[in-house]
Amino acid sequence: MTRPGSVTVRAPAKINLELRVGAPRPDGFHELATVFQALSLADDVSVSLTGGSIDDGVEVTLDGTQVDGVPTDERNLAVRAVLLLAERTGVSDGVRLHLRKHIPVAGGMAGGSADAAAALLAADLVWQTGLTREQLRALAAELGSDVPFALLGGTAIGTGRGEQLTAAMCRGTYHWVIALSDRGLSTPAVFAEADRLRAGRVLPEPRVSERLMAALRSGNAAALGAHLVNDLQPAACSLRPGLLQTLEVGDECGALGALVSGSGPTVAFLAADSEQALDIATALGTSAVADQVVRVTGPAHGARVVEGAWPTS
Ligand code: ATP
Repeated sequence: MTRPGSVTVRAPAKINLELRVGAPRPDGFHELATVFQALSLADDVSVSLTGGSIDDGVEVTLDGTQVDGVPTDERNLAVRAVLLLAERTGVSDGVRLHLRKHIPVAGGMAGGSADAAAALLAADLVWQTGLTREQLRALAAELGSDVPFALLGGTAIGTGRGEQLTAAMCRGTYHWVIALSDRGLSTPAVFAEADRLRAGRVLPEPRVSERLMAALRSGNAAALGAHLVNDLQPAACSLRPGLLQTLEVGDECGALGALVSGSGPTVAFLAADSEQALDIATALGTSAVADQVVRVTGPAHGARVVEGAWPTS
């Protein structure tokens, strides 16, 4: 069987429907309990053989709507993913990467993690490493806490640093309006601000709420909207007070719920249907509180091949 010279994998953005953050651990990470949902907003990563050696370096090209601030050297998580895979499997064939980016950069939607997951899967197929799914998942967890979820997709509970996943039952399709800001928020800075705001408090062990899980199981969007929660929201709003105004627009439009996504500054609004989603998007546009507004649905697939697949008989 000949192998494909190029494979393109699409991987989704995520939002955290619930994000519970515990006290900082000795290793500097925080214990988390979170519910991820993958969205119909995705990046495509193409991995192509160059005919040269991996030691020559990995060239990265970019296109799409969200490319500002994306590094094209080894700081890029997709590059780190292919280099890690090469190191662990001993392959030496050179590859180049092309990223088609639509997930906002530093928006708390795990765009870099999606690219890492997509690059890992695409490089694995191009190189035919023979790794098992579990081995790939372990490499994904080494690359970052959100990378395993980008591989899995759907709706899932994450514990530990967020990398230990359990798929969650979720009925129906949810309509989200996402308000984006051109200026990102640094994830470490938001965690540090959360620690500062909560200093001296005894924090409970983080757990996801049974009510939110019940809402997802029954496909009850109104109940889901009422239970959206993010422990990092006060910290994100403290660093970026304008987020409070953005959140208010959701209230004014009767959104079922709204929250800052992950470490922000992206804000997600849950709408009852596609019509209300359009109303919320229009209100956000008119009030000029967001730099960009997108309408998406969830849950969506995890990383999957969109080009370059071949029969596996
Ligand atoms: P998370 O939700 O996991 O906290 P995020 O969505 O807030 O992440 P990313 O878009 O993943 O943030 O990127 C954060 C930073 O990582 C960027 O500012 C950029 O410098 C760097 N980066 C590295 N690789 C990538 C990539 N493939 N795409 C975007 N940013 C990347």
